[in-house]
Amino acid sequence: MDSRSKKIRHPTYDIGTRPFIVIWEVTRACDLACAHCRAAAMQRPDPAELSTAEALKLIDQVAAFGPPSPLFVLTGGDPLKRADLTDLVSYAAQRHLPVAFSPSVTPLLTPESIRRLRDAGLKAMSLSVDGACPEVHDSFRGFSGTFDRTMKIWETARNCDLKVQINTTVTRLNLSDLPGIAHAVKRLGALTWSVFFLVQLGRGTNLAQLTPAECEDVMHFLYDVGTVVPVKTTEGHHFKRVFTQRSILDRHGLSPDEFLTLGPTYRALRAALEPWPQGNSGGRRAPMDVNAGKGFVFISHTGDVAPSGFYPVAAGNIRSQALGELYRDSDLFRQLRDPARLGGRCGRCEYNSVCGGSRSRAFNVTGNGLEEDPLCAYQPGSFPFPQEASAMIASTAAA
Ligand code: SF4
Repeated sequence: MDSRSKKIRHPTYDIGTRPFIVIWEVTRACDLACAHCRAAAMQRPDPAELSTAEALKLIDQVAAFGPPSPLFVLTGGDPLKRADLTDLVSYAAQRHLPVAFSPSVTPLLTPESIRRLRDAGLKAMSLSVDGACPEVHDSFRGFSGTFDRTMKIWETARNCDLKVQINTTVTRLNLSDLPGIAHAVKRLGALTWSVFFLVQLGRGTNLAQLTPAECEDVMHFLYDVGTVVPVKTTEGHHFKRVFTQRSILDRHGLSPDEFLTLGPTYRALRAALEPWPQGNSGGRRAPMDVNAGKGFVFISHTGDVAPSGFYPVAAGNIRSQALGELYRDSDLFRQLRDPARLGGRCGRCEYNSVCGGSRSRAFNVTGNGLEEDPLCAYQPGSFPFPQEASAMIASTAAA
């Protein structure tokens, strides 16, 4: 196989025994009112959220997975609404967990609070950038001035030597801003640009979803962006299929126009992206083979354990059951890890062992988390290099 071709990465251990990433919603309290908020966050903390003592026990359970420790992400609501946040970060760092957090850009997020958390052991943070200009971003976030503050915090985080992930939720409202955001990420630098494909949950129920064809176009655009910006998708698992197909075409020096359907959204995004460095597959970072319940676990502010933050079904609660047990042995998680259980096109698809589609979207649209992902346009078996695709999927690279 051509050494330049990139394979989907996968963890070096049995993904059924331990997660790659643990996301804990430390609180639902938040002072913002973002248009796409999964949690439909509220101003005051839920009295039922995990206490400090329960939170420390949770951290012990995450640490109990042992090395290599999962990435431990503290999300919200706004994590800074928890008075004990610094102590929790410090405790998790002492237990050798790589800790990241995803704050809301409110007056609580200051250079001082970032430095305090960095000194406590924080390694990374994510920031939401949903528009390339204040008008688009601030209308998403519900407050004017948020865009400018986000840009300043981005710089502060980098000056504090924190790794920064930029998150963008893509809807019809900000689709045309994607090239501008890509340029901002290239200019300002980030570990990853994570593009989230909407699951219509919480406040996001009212946002304009892309069509499957538009979604496909955005994924091809993201593949092109990947020459110089490390891109990942959230709830857009079929990017792994697009990545594999484009990588195979690159290897043969073939144009995607001849073998894949690239529509007007792709062409508009691509034109707006120029000038952009060209490159071959050698410079790209391949996506990771993780999905809801498969390398991924979400713990709610009250301790419910779910396959993702967008899959509102709990396998159990850490107040009464061990996290590791729920991840390894619950029927919900085991089913989601088994591609043979998938239905519709995802069930027939040759990419389902590395893609599998968004289980969260399938659940939210059909009520059955094993159904096909309605945002994927692919007809299984239609890509003309099936043997190469199978070989590449079978030989996924170790992360
Ligand atoms: S049909 Fe399902 S498994 Fe296949 S690429 Fe689309 S989302 Fe992924």
